Amino acid sequence: MSESKNPFEIAQAQFEQGADLLGLPEDVRALLRWPLREFHFRIPVKMDDSTTRVFTGFRVQHNDARGPNKGGIRFHPNETIDTVRALAMWMTWKCAVADIPLGGSKGGVIINPATLSVSEKERLCRGWVDQMWKNVGPRMDVPAPDVGTTPQMMAWMMDEYSKLTGNYAPGAFTGKPVDMGGSLGRTEATGYGVIFTVREAMKHLGIDPKSSVAAIQGFGNVAQYAAIGFKEILGGKVACVSCYDLNDRKPYTYSHPDGVDPKFLQSITDQYGTIDAAKAKAAGYLQEHEMAWIDKEADVLIPAALENMLTAETAPRIHKRMQIIAEGANGPTTLEGDTIIKERGLFVIPDFLCNAGGVTTSYFESVQNDMNFYWHRDEVLERLDHKMTKAFQDVLEMSIGRKVHMRDAAYLVAIDKVVRAMRLRGWV
Ligand code: GLU
Repeated sequence: MSESKNPFEIAQAQFEQGADLLGLPEDVRALLRWPLREFHFRIPVKMDDSTTRVFTGFRVQHNDARGPNKGGIRFHPNETIDTVRALAMWMTWKCAVADIPLGGSKGGVIINPATLSVSEKERLCRGWVDQMWKNVGPRMDVPAPDVGTTPQMMAWMMDEYSKLTGNYAPGAFTGKPVDMGGSLGRTEATGYGVIFTVREAMKHLGIDPKSSVAAIQGFGNVAQYAAIGFKEILGGKVACVSCYDLNDRKPYTYSHPDGVDPKFLQSITDQYGTIDAAKAKAAGYLQEHEMAWIDKEADVLIPAALENMLTAETAPRIHKRMQIIAEGANGPTTLEGDTIIKERGLFVIPDFLCNAGGVTTSYFESVQNDMNFYWHRDEVLERLDHKMTKAFQDVLEMSIGRKVHMRDAAYLVAIDKVVRAMRLRGWV
């Protein structure tokens, strides 16, 4: 049988594995294996040349037993209902494992946002809200940024929602700009959260962070702050980062003999994570093609881009020095890729644990919106560290106690919490 790269099939198979370990009955599985609700809609957008283009949008609400649905919106040309379903399901587990009182959802629009002008993007964002506003909101479902969406887009969406409902509702969207009800620390939260879990994994495995090396895939929001955090928080070296060049539509890996300087690279990267190749080369960076990040000599591999990166084909190429896989992306590993990684004895920090820092800080943002009182950056990051460390330790304890891999342990912790909430509500 050929390897499935359908994220929803992968998410469902992972769920069934967790459900088997928990011995869940069929009624509970039936409620969790599919989303509770799905919205499919068209968004007409007036383009700058006065034509109208009609985009396809989605919102999938997987499970809200533990609280309002929560999850980002992706603008991506390859978006499908199945990517959104998988991502929504992973959000349910993410909020549960991070122990924040929220459910799981995800949204998407099939579009490459780099092809739109600023005003077209604004109209698309407002159009998304025009279709969905009756089914989102601070006590129902709270969107946030993800791949292809930005804090500015959240500000437009929040504004449209507030206009339609007639109430200023900052808590309806998170990941907003700091000047518009956003939280300090939200921008760096996902990447730093990845690093807090890597730090805990290193403590557990007895690795010295200061002599460690990371290979990072991607250079969007998560990868940028994971790279900065790896250097500044852990004191380690970053061997490479990678990016997808929107101009020639190819992936590239950038490395430097002294290790990459993520802040410099960030200064020459556009809002979609594309590094300026000429400037990087002028600064002595080596530009390699395709998947060069996968076999770089390093201790920690951080896939922080999209799904299906560690597969039956690529996982065998992981360097023999590698010890930790920290999944900054959602769903970077296929089922076959995971089997290879397990057989190699690599320590995996699974996606919905590793990258939970973003949604955790989104939760802090909505708490601050509700209070209408805002915290210092240090307070946000300290609370984030505390939450991430606790989540990591809970999963590690489960992994040791039940003698299962970290991914299975994370599923055990998360599914159990969601099922307990469903039982208390009388759903099952
Ligand atoms: N899109 C991010 C994620 O996948 C953040 C979601 C949120 O903040 O709601 O976790």
